Amino acid sequence: MEFARRGVMLVIASPSGAGKSSISRTLFDQDPNIKLSVSVTTRSRRSDEIEGKHYHFIDVPAFERMKHDGELLEWAEVHGNLYGTPRTKVEERLAAGNDILFDIDFQGTLQLYEKCRADMVTVFILPPSIKELKSRLERRAQDSKETIDRRLSNARLEMEHYSEYDYVIVNEDLEQSCSRVRSILAAARLQRPRLLQLDKFVKDLQDQIDSL
Ligand code: 5GP
Repeated sequence: MEFARRGVMLVIASPSGAGKSSISRTLFDQDPNIKLSVSVTTRSRRSDEIEGKHYHFIDVPAFERMKHDGELLEWAEVHGNLYGTPRTKVEERLAAGNDILFDIDFQGTLQLYEKCRADMVTVFILPPSIKELKSRLERRAQDSKETIDRRLSNARLEMEHYSEYDYVIVNEDLEQSCSRVRSILAAARLQRPRLLQLDKFVKDLQDQIDSL
């Protein structure tokens, strides 16, 4: 029996290079019901990134305007650039029963906790070792040595926030990590407050007892 349900806000966070992007990509490919929340950012576009798919790339004045006009559900400065989640579409998609994946940092997660905790499930991804984290960052050839060094020292700080998340996954193996996230999402989809017609269903069951 399937109830119509409200969507899940699935937040996946991690230090850069821990494998969050690969996990997110695999989840999308496997489940058409999951939509990505496409953030706005003032960071410059990497050559493999597509406007509107990975991010909406905007300048600082446009970002400030969106912030001022209340168009951002949350926002943060990360690695010297501004990032934010556009508010439009999120509520619409949740009401339509679509799950939304948020690739945002801990600052954004804390802001969403204030606003929409009941809709959220949060997962923090850790690398299995720093050796592995460093080599994953180095494989992203597009980032300069300074960027890699900055991301490594930020990773140390970001890791302190693991305890603010509902689940923590050590990403040793991509397929195993994806399977764990899928299990978390499957359970979240079944949480009672998300099931829209549950009250009516129980009332109908009771009416049927009454009419026996
Ligand atoms: P990158 O520049 O590598 O794409 O992302 C850098 C960091 O910014 C990542 O940790 C990512 O999760 C975070 N980030 C991306 N979009 C948002 C957003 O809309 N809000 C917040 N708070 N963080 C974001």
